[in-house]
Amino acid sequence: MSIFSSPCTIAQVQAISPLEPLEARMLLCHVTGYTRVQLITQSELYLNDEQLEQLNHLTTQRLAGEPIAYLLGQREFFGLTFKVTPDVLIPRPDTELLVELALERTANAGHLLDLGTGSGAIAIAIAAQDRQIKVNAADISPAALSVAKFNATQLLAANTQIQFHLSDWYSAIPAQKFHTIVSNPPYIVKDDIHLSQGDLRFEPIDALTDHSDGLSAYRKIIDGAPPYLHENAWLLMEHGYDQSDEVQALLKAAGFTDVQSWPDIAGILRVSGGRLGN
Ligand code: GLN
Repeated sequence: MSIFSSPCTIAQVQAISPLEPLEARMLLCHVTGYTRVQLITQSELYLNDEQLEQLNHLTTQRLAGEPIAYLLGQREFFGLTFKVTPDVLIPRPDTELLVELALERTANAGHLLDLGTGSGAIAIAIAAQDRQIKVNAADISPAALSVAKFNATQLLAANTQIQFHLSDWYSAIPAQKFHTIVSNPPYIVKDDIHLSQGDLRFEPIDALTDHSDGLSAYRKIIDGAPPYLHENAWLLMEHGYDQSDEVQALLKAAGFTDVQSWPDIAGILRVSGGRLGN
């Protein structure tokens, strides 16, 4: 399908595009290399054939539902631009809460573990704060881990301490104790209607759902945590909009204290956590 044909200026592309204006601009910046301001100042410039072909392709894919983050190959999170591919979940603004809570609770030079790191967004955002936190990040997917490693080399100073582990939750995490464990695990209930809507249709299914009741990852993370936690260390986990009671109950049943939940920017209880005393 050809939406744009030659000759076509930047202004004309924006007038013709069937996409939301913001998304049309994002794709235009991507194919031209221009900034949003340059799109305005250079609006009478003609796109070349290669740019038009690329734009036709990307616009068609977007109309078919492909997430804009995968088309651009990147998404901003915590002020950093992460590479994203269909092998990783697209970082969500909600998840910045988990980063902030972890930073508040991890001392300088503390050890932190991120389970199910995906693109590495949480682990790398924490490491980028340059607090000498020693970050470990794990994922069961080799493809996700290579995206996370790429992001770490792009976004972190060369001397940053970050280690990656190909691991099914704790299975390959070396025996050591952490001051904080964080995770944004797959928590959507099997067959939930949202899995067949919007961006989620294109995201890695194993990063979205546990193919069960939405809580099985929490059971594994909570039950496996004790040998990896220093005394009074925090376990903090993101969850779905209606899962705070259930996640709190799992934490309490496993002997965690100080169990609580925190609201995201939309006011929804989004992260729950607790500490393991003696
Ligand atoms: N926050 C994602 C969503 O609901 C789900 C991510 C996850 O399962 N961890 O779109």
